[in-house]
Amino acid sequence: MVLCIQLLVWILINIEENKCDFCGCCVGVCPVDCIELKEADISIDQDICIDCKLCVYVCPIEVLEYVESETV
Ligand code: SF4
Ligand code: SF4
Repeated sequence: MVLCIQLLVWILINIEENKCDFCGCCVGVCPVDCIELKEADISIDQDICIDCKLCVYVCPIEVLEYVESETV
């Protein structure tokens, strides 16, 4: 009998939109251009994001959060 366990890790970059000041720093460092900033609206295309966390590191007011969850 073979027991196979598959571990899936889901990673998301969360934005606390009500705290964002729309400075654009995160947009400038994203290597795959998946952060869209339009006046007072910001969003991340999670399908394109490569989870490099550069946006999290550069946000001056720590609005972005790296979230990791596991399912078995
Ligand atoms: S984690 Fe990297 S790829 Fe994803 S939105 Fe941030 S800078 Fe872009
Ligand atoms: S770097 Fe932070 S404050 Fe600036 S636009 Fe991005 S999420 Fe908003």
